[in-house]
Amino acid sequence: MTQSIGGPSGKLPARDFEEIRLAEALERGRCPVCDARQESGYAALRGLAREGSTDRGLRDQMDKGVGFCQPHSIGLSKMELLQTSSQLATAVLLDAVLRRRLAGLKKLAGKDVTSQNRGLAELADSQCPVCARIDEASRAALKRLLDVSAEGAWLTALGSGELCLDDVYALGIAAASGSRDVQQRWSTILSAQMRRLGAIQEQLAEYAHNSTSDRRQLITKEQQEACAASIRLFGGTPDKDRMR
Ligand SMILES: [Zn+2]
Ligand SMILES: [Zn+2]
Repeated sequence: MTQSIGGPSGKLPARDFEEIRLAEALERGRCPVCDARQESGYAALRGLAREGSTDRGLRDQMDKGVGFCQPHSIGLSKMELLQTSSQLATAVLLDAVLRRRLAGLKKLAGKDVTSQNRGLAELADSQCPVCARIDEASRAALKRLLDVSAEGAWLTALGSGELCLDDVYALGIAAASGSRDVQQRWSTILSAQMRRLGAIQEQLAEYAHNSTSDRRQLITKEQQEACAASIRLFGGTPDKDRMR
């Protein structure tokens, strides 16, 4: 069954849940790849907060060096607090990681500079399972977007949609390993995105020009919107409230 969703360019045909989500993101002016990343990150954190401390597979992975990066250590504790009003699973998981890290540091403590350096670089890679899920979701979203761009409505929506700059690059990089058709569609998307970025840049320059105190009253709504759009362009789509 195909569900049609009104996107920035009209109707975006979506065949499954993943496409519905990507279409909705574009429709709401969110970068669909940022959106997929956030969704998968929260899903991973929810799973860890719920079952992480009893998940045998995860505990085994931790013995092999898996840990949590800084944002996801915080993310895990916040998620668990929201879900259960406790931080017990977080404590169990971080205890397991800390044991492993401490053992690693003990091994390094007496070694020469070169070995220490190598060992510390290894420890510094947190091997975060949440980051791994997010990377996977990001790759899947980029691939799916390039697939669906075979349909005109999606191609138009991707050209005019609010992709963040990092994900414009990522889409191009993903397209490079695709078929000739995919590469052709990417160049259509890129041309349209460059027009969009050019328009933002022009308005942004006007906004900046009008930002002095004597000119501030000249700032137009379009210039103000361009300022907000440029922040999303570089900063990615802001988080939705998906903690629950
Ligand atoms: Zn993005
Ligand atoms: Zn992480």
